[in-house]
Amino acid sequence: MTLHTTTLLLALLAGFLLLTLELGVSLRRLPARPELNSWTAGSWAMLAGLAALALRPVVPLWLSVLAGNWLICVGLAFFCRAIHQLLSPSPAPRWIDVALALSLPATAATVLLPMPLRTTLISAIFVLFLVPSVAVILRLGWKTEGSLRTVALTLSVAAAAMTARSVHSLLEPQDYTDLLQASLGQGLTFLVAFMCLLGAGFGFVLTLFERLANELEKLATTDGLTGCANRTCTDGFLAQELAHGRRQNAPVAFVLMDLDHFKQVNDQHGHRVGDIVLKRFAETVRAGLRQSDLLGRTGGEEFGIILPGTDEAGAHRLVDKIRRAVAQSTAPDSKGQPLSVTVSAGVAVAFPTEMLPPERLYGRADRALYVAKRAGRNRVEIYVPDGTSTMVPLN
Ligand code: GH3
Ligand code: MG
Ligand code: MG
Repeated sequence: MTLHTTTLLLALLAGFLLLTLELGVSLRRLPARPELNSWTAGSWAMLAGLAALALRPVVPLWLSVLAGNWLICVGLAFFCRAIHQLLSPSPAPRWIDVALALSLPATAATVLLPMPLRTTLISAIFVLFLVPSVAVILRLGWKTEGSLRTVALTLSVAAAAMTARSVHSLLEPQDYTDLLQASLGQGLTFLVAFMCLLGAGFGFVLTLFERLANELEKLATTDGLTGCANRTCTDGFLAQELAHGRRQNAPVAFVLMDLDHFKQVNDQHGHRVGDIVLKRFAETVRAGLRQSDLLGRTGGEEFGIILPGTDEAGAHRLVDKIRRAVAQSTAPDSKGQPLSVTVSAGVAVAFPTEMLPPERLYGRADRALYVAKRAGRNRVEIYVPDGTSTMVPLN
């Protein structure tokens, strides 16, 4: 069996042309993404490099070898840069530019060599660009987007195919006397390597879209100032946990917290300090919660906490601990002096037998909060049906 390299080259050219055109279209639509620009530049270089190789019958051999192989190096260097830009805020490392500059004389030096030896050396140079790209993903990106793992995988297979090509052309030089020669080893290693590079491009685009989708989801569910869940997300989580509690026969506690006299903080120290206090408050509360609990910002200086699997006694203990932690924590005021605030909280618990809808649970916590405010603030009240409440003394 043999593989016709000219056909493979044409198919790969068509593939890279499609990828670059598609990237060009999405670049116009998406907000500026330097990593996508780099991958697109790399794909253009790859396309031009493959075209230079394919033009071998009509352009001088030295030109096809030099332009074709070096442009492929340029493409691989841009891919490596794109991966760095995606995964690290620091600028892409200098070695990429140095390696690219060195690869030009290295490629030129192979022009006069016999084709099998040239194939060995050029393939090894390609591997030297591919391995660091995979290493960066393994080091910085393995736990990020799932699609990035497919990029690492396809680049690894490309590196393996290039290594096989490098070794095979040493062992079977008769298969590598001309790039366009139809031979299995030559065709297969070429096909696998460049198909994988093409596939890595699609994987990279998917990674960016996966990242974009995650960013949008975070924007849609998170409060920008405090990092808490926003109102919509809190409501959704409460409904979901109530249903879950019913299935598991477990109670769900809901807590409404409201900062005391917060208007005075703004009036005396300005909104900026008020914002810092809100952020600090959210951090203090979060530090006291379990992984399964949720803290949401339900209004300006009002927050909700959902405590799955928690009864009144448990919620009371936890919320009072948080109340004390809030009173003790400070944030710098407009003059840099420590400023502390207090919080009032209302707790209501939904028991699985009650089939309480989320709005009613919310209303009960709100009633308990109202009682806490009326009773002097800086306290926790538990909702009781007759309108009175259990008082937690100030301390
Ligand atoms: P109470 O103890 O009864 O809750 O009194 P309060 O002053 O906290 O209540 P009030 O509802 O009168 O005031 C709430 C204040 O919260 C008014 C508003 O300016 C402030 N606030 C709401 N959202 C923000 C925000 O995002 N940043 C800042 N700095 N202030 C906010
Ligand atoms: Mg308030
Ligand atoms: Mg309020």
